[in-house]
Amino acid sequence: MTAKAKEKPGRRYSQTIFYDWCKACGICIAFCPQEVFRPNKQGKPVVAQPDQCTGCGFCEIHCPDFAITIAERPPQQHKEKS
Ligand code: SF4
Ligand code: SF4
Repeated sequence: MTAKAKEKPGRRYSQTIFYDWCKACGICIAFCPQEVFRPNKQGKPVVAQPDQCTGCGFCEIHCPDFAITIAERPPQQHKEKS
C-alpha cells in the first residue's frame, strides 16, 4: 500500500494561515509531503486538501514568517449532552 496507510484513522488536523504575515515564498506549498496546499493568484497557500494533513509540522516549522499554525482536530464530530 502507499504511505498513506500509515495515517492514524480519525486523526485530523486543521491548517490556519495568517495571510497578512505570508509573503508568498511558496515553501509550504512546495514541500508539504501531502500536497495539502495550492497557490492562489498571489502565490499564497490555499488549503486544498485539509484531510490529507498528517500533522508533520513541516510547514509550521519552516515558514519564515510564522504564518502557519497546525492543530489537531478532535476526532468526535458531535457531543452528547448529559
Ligand atoms: S503539517 Fe505537514 S502534512 Fe500538514 S500541511 Fe503542514 S507540511 Fe503538510
Ligand atoms: S511558507 Fe509561510 S510565507 Fe511562505 S508561502 Fe507558506 S505561509 Fe506564506
